[in-house]
Amino acid sequence: RKGNVVITGASSGLGLATAKSLAETGKWNVVMACRDFLKAEKAAKSAGMAKENYSIMHLDLASLDSVRQFVRNFRQSGMPLDTLVCNAAVYFPTAGEPTYTAEGFEMSVGVNHIGHFLLARELLEDMKQSDYPSRRLIIVGSITGNTNTLAGNIPPKANLGDLRGLAGGLNETTGSAMIDGGKFDGAKAYKDSKVCNMLTMQEFHRRYHEDTGISFASLYPGCIATTGLFREHIGLFRTLFPPFQKYITKGFVSEEEAGNRLAQVVSDPSLTKSGVYWSWNKNSASFENQLSQEASDVEKARKVWEMTEKLLGLA
Ligand code: NDP
Repeated sequence: RKGNVVITGASSGLGLATAKSLAETGKWNVVMACRDFLKAEKAAKSAGMAKENYSIMHLDLASLDSVRQFVRNFRQSGMPLDTLVCNAAVYFPTAGEPTYTAEGFEMSVGVNHIGHFLLARELLEDMKQSDYPSRRLIIVGSITGNTNTLAGNIPPKANLGDLRGLAGGLNETTGSAMIDGGKFDGAKAYKDSKVCNMLTMQEFHRRYHEDTGISFASLYPGCIATTGLFREHIGLFRTLFPPFQKYITKGFVSEEEAGNRLAQVVSDPSLTKSGVYWSWNKNSASFENQLSQEASDVEKARKVWEMTEKLLGLA
């Protein structure tokens, strides 16, 4: 049978490119989990995806009710779940004030980390039931959260501190919107959320890989300077960033190439190892990359997991 893969945020950028790459193989039914149904339908059509290779289901990660509703809808479809890709993200580098999810969590960490955490925890149960030979749970990471890299050292750097803001519910009216309890900074909130994504993947691996056989992975697909992620950035940045990445840092990848990379993590038989953060070298060959000290801190991973469970009422 075809594999069933859920991809969040498949209506643009990396998620769409990955959906297209997998759909084209004819071996996957891609479930595009998107907040804007019409946009997703148009995106799939203009990418030339054949109808029999995808479906669209509504998911807004900024609302935990929507996450739970998505899980119910998915179960009602009767499809087994073979692979989950947590890809969607928001980034507010120029915001002066925080915005909030339906439950009042700062939006970047709320969508990128907390919404995905609930989704992945719920859908793990479905993946356990699947008889698919290679089941994978993938959470897209980023170099920007890794302070052991050049890109990760551009301020403001990711830093989760002692997690006091997360423990307090990530809200300025009751505490701080930032995980470390500091003043709101949109660019840092995004980087912090990506550290949470990478820590969560490793914690999943430690808790569930051995018992379930599911592979947990994260990746940095390269700098895809053309996606909508940078839509909130100032105009000059948006003009200069793609050539900067192309000619100076040489980290630039096209959306198509990045989509092929994530598709490899979904389906390539050589990328089944669990607990790994994948990257690609200049020749587009995959390798197991090193995470920064914070993004591989075992104790912090456990704390982020437990605090997030508490915020979600799962603990
Ligand atoms: P895009 O902005 O193009 O795509 C993000 C996707 O997330 C969109 O489909 C968007 O939906 C969706 N999304 C946003 N908020 C929500 C929500 N509340 N509920 C459901 N879906 C939502 O960015 P990219 O493709 O660049 O980003 C994809 C991933 O790649 C992210 O995890 C990002 O951190 C990562 N990444 C990107 C890099 C880059 O250079 N671009 C580098 C490293 C990692 P909509 O279409 O409706 O806006």
